[in-house]
Amino acid sequence: MSFSRIFNELVKSLSCLPGVGRRSAERMAFHLLKMKPEEVKSLASKMQDIHNHIKPCRICNNFSTNEICSICSDPKRDKDIVCVVEEPKDIMAIEKTYGFNGVYHVLLGSISPIEGIGGEGLNIGKLVERTARREINEIIISTDSDNEGELTAQFLIQKLSPYKVKIYRIAMGIPLGTQIEYIDSATLGKALLERKLV
Ligand SMILES: [Zn+2]
Repeated sequence: MSFSRIFNELVKSLSCLPGVGRRSAERMAFHLLKMKPEEVKSLASKMQDIHNHIKPCRICNNFSTNEICSICSDPKRDKDIVCVVEEPKDIMAIEKTYGFNGVYHVLLGSISPIEGIGGEGLNIGKLVERTARREINEIIISTDSDNEGELTAQFLIQKLSPYKVKIYRIAMGIPLGTQIEYIDSATLGKALLERKLV
């Protein structure tokens, strides 16, 4: 196989990563060529480790190296307050505020009419089970404030309101159309604190 073919295959694969355009992918590929073989091997094995050792938490769907994630298994967390987020990266953003001591449920997506994902495509089974078992007193819906996030929040409210549970929507102070992961910790912490009952 020619150099350009191998090189272009790698550039194509790197371009699949978010925020990486063709030019950045080419720069990365040239950089990889300059790195020591053992460094490249170590990088490749770390990328593989993500799939080999990290799986969704059996309770909340957060990324975890164990069956149950470090947040769900922490005895100091309030297990009856559940913050619902779209993706595990949103948990990282909320944890950085140091303002929330409950636990989470990760939906692993949101309702998206454009992509044909409706409410039935959301991972809410485990959340509904926990609510039905009366393990939860408060649910804080912290989906993004864009159209998909709002549709998802409305769907959750509809599904969870028959149960005896207080449902809050994260307070806005968050600009409309913003994704949770991009909000600064101070604004996000305040929004959580000022959540409103729905
Ligand atoms: Zn968990």
